Amino acid sequence: MTHQRILACGDNHGDTESLEKLVEATDGEEFDFIIHTGDITNAYKTDLETGVDQLQAVEPYFETLAERGTLVYIYGNRDKERAFGGSPTHVSEEYELSVGHRLQAGGELTVDGQRFTADPADAGPEDILLTHGISQEAFFQSSANAYFCGDTHRARQFKTALNTGYLHNDKGFNGAYFTATLDDDEWEAAVHGLDEQWKGFVCPDHQWYGRQFTPEKFGCGLCKFGPGRQFSSIAFIAFEKATSEEEETASIDDLVVAARDGVVDDETFADQFRSYLEELANVDRPHPTDPLKPAESPESLKRQ
Ligand SMILES: [Zn+2]
Ligand SMILES: [Zn+2]
Repeated sequence: MTHQRILACGDNHGDTESLEKLVEATDGEEFDFIIHTGDITNAYKTDLETGVDQLQAVEPYFETLAERGTLVYIYGNRDKERAFGGSPTHVSEEYELSVGHRLQAGGELTVDGQRFTADPADAGPEDILLTHGISQEAFFQSSANAYFCGDTHRARQFKTALNTGYLHNDKGFNGAYFTATLDDDEWEAAVHGLDEQWKGFVCPDHQWYGRQFTPEKFGCGLCKFGPGRQFSSIAFIAFEKATSEEEETASIDDLVVAARDGVVDDETFADQFRSYLEELANVDRPHPTDPLKPAESPESLKRQ
């Protein structure tokens, strides 16, 4: 029924060299949709004025891209100045792009007969879900036809969900963009490095994490940096599901069940997640950014 060809990218952080390379690399190609997953500027890390300049500098590249397909974009957390006590101004309050279709955070948009939503709870089987920040639940168990997100700068795919990584990162490196072909039950994503060859692979120790995309020379991000960050955000979600006002604590078993139900339904994941929780329950003073703290009884964990 549906056949779509999509160009997906994001997180250029105000950089235009990467966009120029993307524009050159896709010269002559046509897409149903071109999707930018946010962090178009770097206002948060620079300042509002610089962010607005960046937005204006990006616009001509967006214009060229929009000639090759319907451009849909969402803003990211970097597209807003940093608030030092006050209320931060968003770059779009100072300058509005005259090209493309903006999907508002939490909003919806229908363009060329395709419905886009930024709300995971509102995504039906025909919709394209688009958020900047990743929803772990939607990433692993999305109800949408496709899900695109950015923010973490770690490109990966799980079934119909794709995190677009980055076009240009904080270290000054150009990253990659993706072409995705959506057919009825088949969904193919190909990675295209801007400056070097990128590869897609599944780590045998972290299959549940999905297919990762990195430059040729890099390997699994979870093997290198440890899975703690993933597990801590999944633990938050599992806690929400397993606890309530009346029931403040959850056992490790409760959390593993909740994480499997609501996020990653995979046995290896469950084993690794359990080890992470057990380790956490054994420490006296957990790391302040960790969502869990040991409760009075060692085998249950309590909301912080
Ligand atoms: Zn970013
Ligand atoms: Zn790994």
